[in-house]
Amino acid sequence: MVESPSAITRRHALALSLGCAALTPWHSSGQSPETQSLPSSTAVPPPVTWAPRPAFIGGPILFRSNTFSGPATWLGKTIVFRPGGGRFSALAGVNLNQQPGRYPLVLGGETIEVRVATHAYPSSTIRVPQRYVTPPREVLARIREETAIKRAAFRSSPPDRLWEGPFVPPASTRFTSSFGSRRIYNGKTRSTHQGLDYSASLGSEVRASNRGKVVIAREMYFEGGFVLLDHGESIFTLYMHLSAFHVAEGASVEKGVVIAKSGASGRATGPHLHFGVQWQGTYLEPSTLFGLWDS
Ligand SMILES: [Zn+2]
Repeated sequence: MVESPSAITRRHALALSLGCAALTPWHSSGQSPETQSLPSSTAVPPPVTWAPRPAFIGGPILFRSNTFSGPATWLGKTIVFRPGGGRFSALAGVNLNQQPGRYPLVLGGETIEVRVATHAYPSSTIRVPQRYVTPPREVLARIREETAIKRAAFRSSPPDRLWEGPFVPPASTRFTSSFGSRRIYNGKTRSTHQGLDYSASLGSEVRASNRGKVVIAREMYFEGGFVLLDHGESIFTLYMHLSAFHVAEGASVEKGVVIAKSGASGRATGPHLHFGVQWQGTYLEPSTLFGLWDS
């Protein structure tokens, strides 16, 4: 991000547009491996498996156990192992700014070390209309209002699990731009891409990635047509640049139902679907999420 005083408003606006950076600093969730003092214990921790293996920075993690249920601690956050598919599971992730290393999963008073590997993310240069890099004064109030709506939505997730089983892709097309790429907008503002961009011609069907509740379905400045689904446990999926809504705020949706049509609204270079996944304030690499239940 540019650090000159004149860039603050722009940076703030951009961070808000990405829905997360202003709420949860990238660096807030981690504990470095050097500062962890792991309890020395001869007790055997409950058997837990996870995918992907190794876990990686910016990626989701699905922890599973045949025997352990209840709360656990991972990267300073509480996660809960709940029944599903004949086992207990908890869906979590690793912040993109976490250092690679070994981190403790603490459950039932025991600690399991989980290796988090590094991951290479590309860079790209994007050209968008200048009003999305330096928003004009007259839209700043609108952007602030929309930020408050998003913040409230991200804080309102119930502790219960609404999602069930695998998350599915929101579109049947290829994704053309990856999560985690460092982006430079119009040669100036730097940002990190916090989702996947699916190639989707105008009006393509957009489907709910899992069961959840529609907490936002409206037009926003940066997102354009925007749907935010709350899957419980502070797990959200985001769908942006939409041209039509097929669901209303407050509705419950089942996995795979059509929730919207794709478009090119908001800060978009052309028709596509931006799809994001957020876990406890951290954006995660979505494509890995779809395969976690296969292993
Ligand atoms: Zn995108």
